[in-house]
Amino acid sequence: MGEVFEFRNYWEKHREKLPYEIDGVVVIVNENNAFEAAGVIGKAPRAAIAYKFSAKETTTIVEGIKVQVGRTGTLTPVAILKPIELGGIRIMHATLHNFDQIERLGLKIGDTVIVSRAGDVIPQITKVLAEMRTGKEKAFKMPLNCPIDSSRVIREGAIYRCSNEQCGARNRQSLRHFVSRMAFDIRGLGGKIIDRFLDEGLISDASDIFELEEGDIAVLERFGEKSAQNIIREIGSHKTISLERFIYSLGILHIGEETALLLAKEYPVSSIKELIRKYKGLSLEDLQKIRDIGPKVAQSIYNWFHGKRNIHFLEKLDKVGIQIETKKLKNLKTQSLKGKTFVLTGSLQIMSRDEVKEKIRELGGDVSESVSKKTDYVVAGNEPGSKLKKAKRLGVKIIDEKQFIDLLK
Ligand SMILES: [Zn+2]
Repeated sequence: MGEVFEFRNYWEKHREKLPYEIDGVVVIVNENNAFEAAGVIGKAPRAAIAYKFSAKETTTIVEGIKVQVGRTGTLTPVAILKPIELGGIRIMHATLHNFDQIERLGLKIGDTVIVSRAGDVIPQITKVLAEMRTGKEKAFKMPLNCPIDSSRVIREGAIYRCSNEQCGARNRQSLRHFVSRMAFDIRGLGGKIIDRFLDEGLISDASDIFELEEGDIAVLERFGEKSAQNIIREIGSHKTISLERFIYSLGILHIGEETALLLAKEYPVSSIKELIRKYKGLSLEDLQKIRDIGPKVAQSIYNWFHGKRNIHFLEKLDKVGIQIETKKLKNLKTQSLKGKTFVLTGSLQIMSRDEVKEKIRELGGDVSESVSKKTDYVVAGNEPGSKLKKAKRLGVKIIDEKQFIDLLK
């Protein structure tokens, strides 16, 4: 019997050394006859006993409290802890669920607290050590305005919520867009995982993604250290991004991949700081001078870069270490038409004019309205106009739609 307790006590102290997590030991009588003879209480055989270890807990300091916005627009306060090791995992956040819990605990920013993590549950602040106070602690107040869209915050019992009903859902959409294939392309962050992180208060805007730590994820049920490591590694490897992808990821109204590319080509920058400076300075006229950007799109870009919250968001992305690729603009796919200028004339049969233009730009080429010596190809459809004549006169290569499609291959 003594040996059993010795074994249990040893592993309670040394469980951190195991490559996996345990929360106790199970003792089973190994001899079949003795096992049977011990009998059963309820459903539990008396010859098998589980000894649970005590909850893992430690003390640390609450360095701040940030407010995250969930999927339904609910505001969740999250404690920012001086990092600690708990059960072998580095912990730096603890959810506070709602404002009532802060009141119940009597928690102030700067307090020394007990943080515990029992079993697989995420870390909790279980007690404030008021006797450790120095007088410099600060009381926490819920914000009056939503940190995402600045709408008024309303209180419903213990729940604080953004008064804009669309806020949570819209924010979730923009997060999903941010990590999507043509934007930051962080595949480890699928929709379900984004939702989970939102629900846990781990993220509320896209810059939070880059501040996630293994410990934030590893403590969540059904994640574990391995998947946490993978997600963090994947996020870390996507901190450098091309300018056109970056612009696209911002989710500016009317700005698809193509317009993002046009902007990036016209106004290249090599850092977020430079982007803020340059793009804030663009007038509506500057923007409309860019081929294919009309008044509606120009207005949308202009408004976005004159929004205080948007600039703050860009500054946050800069602070978390997002780098804009400085090498020559890479195209979205390959660059087989790079440097080639096309003019379209006549009506096309297989592809629409817009599709053809899009294709050319996608592959690095340019589309021009008029034929000149600089034109590389004239794509002629049915009933071509004067452009064809001019092309012939200047000796520009003329191709039909089928030949154009062959060029794409
Ligand atoms: Zn809001």
